[in-house]
Amino acid sequence: MKYILSPDQAGVLARVAHARALIAFDFDGTLAPIVPDRTRAAMRDSTRALLASLARLYPVAVVSGRARSDVAARMEPIELRHVVGNHGMECDGEHLGFTGDLAAVRATLARELAGAPGVEIEDKRLSLSVHYRAAPSHAEALARIERAIEEVDRPIRVIGGKLVTNVLPAGATNKGDVMLELVEREHVDVAVYVGDDVTDEDVFELDRPDRIVALRVGEAATSAADFYLREQDEIDQLLARLVELRSGV
Ligand SMILES: [Mg+2]
Repeated sequence: MKYILSPDQAGVLARVAHARALIAFDFDGTLAPIVPDRTRAAMRDSTRALLASLARLYPVAVVSGRARSDVAARMEPIELRHVVGNHGMECDGEHLGFTGDLAAVRATLARELAGAPGVEIEDKRLSLSVHYRAAPSHAEALARIERAIEEVDRPIRVIGGKLVTNVLPAGATNKGDVMLELVEREHVDVAVYVGDDVTDEDVFELDRPDRIVALRVGEAATSAADFYLREQDEIDQLLARLVELRSGV
C-alpha cells in the first residue's frame, strides 16, 4: 500500500483532478470518526465544509452500510450526486439488484441472541447489522453472534466489521457493484473510493487501478486497497488537496 499524501504519490490525485472523475466515500470511519454511540456519528465541521466545496467541483457519492435515509440525514445540507445505503442495495431512490426478505433471518438471530449483553440487532430492512461495541467482552459477543448465524437457514452473506457483523441476503448488490454502476452512470474516466472496513473491500477487490483509485483509511496488509491514509482525520487533507488541485485546473 502507498501513502496517498506522500509527495511521491502527488501525481495520482493530480490525474484525478484533471479527469472526469467521481469521488466516493464510505461514511463511518471515513468521513466521520467512529464513536461509541453510532447514532451520534457526524462529520467534523472542517470535513463538512471541505466536502461541500468538493461537491461543487466533482460528482460526489457516499456509499454506506447504514440505511440510506440514515446516512442521507447525516450529509445535510450538502448536495451530493449520489447517496447509497445498505452496502450498495439502496442507490438514490431505487433498490439495486437482488434484495431478499430478511424477516426470517432477523427472527432467528433475535431468538439466538436474546439476553446477550451489549449486542443489538439493527434492522435496516435490506440488511441487518449486529452491533457489539457495547458488549462487556467483544470476543465473547462475537463468538455468540457467530453461533447464532450458524442457526440461520436462509442464504445470507456475512461481512465482518469494526465491532459489527453485517448480514446481507446472499447475492446482494455490494459496494463494488454500485461503484461500477456509478462510474457508468456518470461517464467518468476515473473514480476515487475511500473506505475503512471489510465491506469496502468489495470495491478495493475490483482491482481496477486504471479506473478506481482504491484508498483505505488505515494501512492494512490484509486489504486489497492500493493506497492509504494513516488516520481518519487525514480525510480533511485529502479533501483539501482534491479541492485545491481542481480549483487550479
Ligand atoms: Mg466505514
